[in-house]
Amino acid sequence: MRPMVHRRSAYIFVALCFIGTLSMGQRRDDVARYVNAMLADTPIEEDLRELCDEIGGRASGTMANLRAVEWGMQKFKDAGVRASTDQFTMPGLWLEKNARAAVSGALSFEPRIAAMPYSAGTNEDGVTAELINIGRGTEEDFRWVGNLIQDKFILVETEELVDIDGLFREYEEAAAIEDRAYAAGVKGIVYMGSRRDILLYRHNASRGLLNTLPMVSMARIDAQRCARALRAGESLTVTLTLDIESGGPYPLENVIAEIPGGDKKDEIVIIGAHIDSWDLGTGANDNGCNVAMMIDLARQLKRLGIVPRRTIRFALWNGEEQGLYGSMGYAQKHAREMDNHVMAMSIDIGSGRINGFFTGGRPEVYSMTQKVLEPIKGLGPFESADVPIVGTDNFDFMMHGVGNLVANHEPQLYGPTYHAASDTYDKVDLQSLKINSAIIAAVTIGFANADRIPYARQSREEIEALVETTDLEVQMRMFGIWDQWIEGKRGRVE
Ligand SMILES: [Zn+2]
Repeated sequence: MRPMVHRRSAYIFVALCFIGTLSMGQRRDDVARYVNAMLADTPIEEDLRELCDEIGGRASGTMANLRAVEWGMQKFKDAGVRASTDQFTMPGLWLEKNARAAVSGALSFEPRIAAMPYSAGTNEDGVTAELINIGRGTEEDFRWVGNLIQDKFILVETEELVDIDGLFREYEEAAAIEDRAYAAGVKGIVYMGSRRDILLYRHNASRGLLNTLPMVSMARIDAQRCARALRAGESLTVTLTLDIESGGPYPLENVIAEIPGGDKKDEIVIIGAHIDSWDLGTGANDNGCNVAMMIDLARQLKRLGIVPRRTIRFALWNGEEQGLYGSMGYAQKHAREMDNHVMAMSIDIGSGRINGFFTGGRPEVYSMTQKVLEPIKGLGPFESADVPIVGTDNFDFMMHGVGNLVANHEPQLYGPTYHAASDTYDKVDLQSLKINSAIIAAVTIGFANADRIPYARQSREEIEALVETTDLEVQMRMFGIWDQWIEGKRGRVE
């Protein structure tokens, strides 16, 4: 990482280039002024430090999460930006208080584990069963072990995760493995950690709140030690002792800040990042960096006195990690105003340089995105992909037919630190974060100031057609939200 002074002079250099090239017309001037303000020296790094280091990991349902919401409200207030909390209902509480494992038999040691979110808990004596290696957990692997695994723990081997493709593969494989494991009547699942050495992380059980099995990820080197013993024909018994705090529905809050629009103020551009995080690390790349960005975007827009044509809302979504519940709650509560929402953008893939956008399988959104990126092509190159993305807070807007974007980023450290103990401030690419904030500023003001939005909200039929012609079903199943769409609990119903 370069020292601060060099970074700042780099911003100023880029900023000067913009002043030189963008001078035509008031609206074009808004883009240049906004972009330059984001590239100049702002408190974004200090905000990120406070959120990650002082508040720390902020899983939904914890005191730290409540503090983060208060902190976000205060930040908008200090910036002179109108903000309010937006309450919604979390369907259930899940927090790990303590998780221990003990292996006995041919080996005797205490492997490092983390409970998977929505894992069942155990009593204080734990649950004990034989551990059987199921390889990668493919259909063939399960067929091969047959009913040998009934009432046993299975050990699922994994590949080391290096990038975002690996992450999606992990989600996809886990959903299928868990279906097979349920069918086979296992006692519980032990995943070999997909991160290096002893790095622990949380990966949601695919059935979410409906999960009833104990499930853990075990530090990679510990799980490999078990796998070697099992492959050598030894037998192992494992005891999992999982102290889980669980409970029914509870209220939680998003923070929604707003810069009112001008001549098209009834139309809304909403951009957001989630303020909740997992708790092993401090939620820096996922997603503190982009929360700090939202606050800075609102702050600079207010400071510049720019009145966008459309209203811009800056959302700090909550309850994201446990099922995208904050944005779902907003979309349900504001269902009648969804026609007015012309754009919902989510920034949630870390702090690597933004290299394009996922435009949702909607060619008009894609071409509009190309257009708003044009004035900042010097911050590119950008290559967008016109595909729908499930897994962050654009989801419910997409299923309500609203034009939506997810920023795509250079992978940087996003994959290896994802939901892991290593997701801390020092992993954030601060220089890219600044440039990303300028990119998002240009895209946001581009949509907010456009003469015309070249697409309308999709009807239920059009959304169904999108589902049928893309891999949306596969993605929704991966995240355990397919049934909610089918049952009419999420998305546009009429
Ligand atoms: Zn995230």
